[in-house]
Amino acid sequence: MNFKDYIRVIPDFPQPGIRFKDITTLLKDGPAYKAAIMELKSFADTVNADVIAGPEARGFVVGAPLAVEMGIGFVPVRKSGKLPFESIKADYSLEYGKDALAMHVDAITPGTRVLIADDLLATGGTIATTIKLIEQLGGIVVGATFLIELSYLDGRNHLGDIPVKSLVQY
Ligand code: 5GP
Repeated sequence: MNFKDYIRVIPDFPQPGIRFKDITTLLKDGPAYKAAIMELKSFADTVNADVIAGPEARGFVVGAPLAVEMGIGFVPVRKSGKLPFESIKADYSLEYGKDALAMHVDAITPGTRVLIADDLLATGGTIATTIKLIEQLGGIVVGATFLIELSYLDGRNHLGDIPVKSLVQY
């Protein structure tokens, strides 16, 4: 399946010069969504993960179905101030803008093998911050997987030597 056929590119969103990759057109198509998750699963099955972590919000729509398909748990990485229990937090910058991500202190126990899932890898800032939080909790990041990779931003090179799999590249 050519997943690019299901991804809509919106010029100048959310600000001039950004060509936003809109995945809602993929998500609303049942067979395409399922095929995308199953292709990510083929990679995910090779890294022997105990749990999947996904950053808010589009990391949830990739990571949670993948976790269910694999029969493992899902841990949300949320924007700061949203989690109800004691949390750790780290600042990060996006392709556009700045924010902070947080995880519950008991989301991951030391030694847990964690696979990260998100919709899109751009500069790698979101995932580098997610890795930092997971490692602070004693987790071992065994891979990162995405629907989309913006190869020209070289985000992969900010993630150390963990295995990275993306379905489509721009
Ligand atoms: P990074 O931190 O790698 O620079 O940016 C990746 C994050 O920004 C992802 O969590 C992703 O959801 C969001 N993002 C940035 N650009 C786009 C885009 O064009 N399309 C989508 N769907 N998400 C984007």
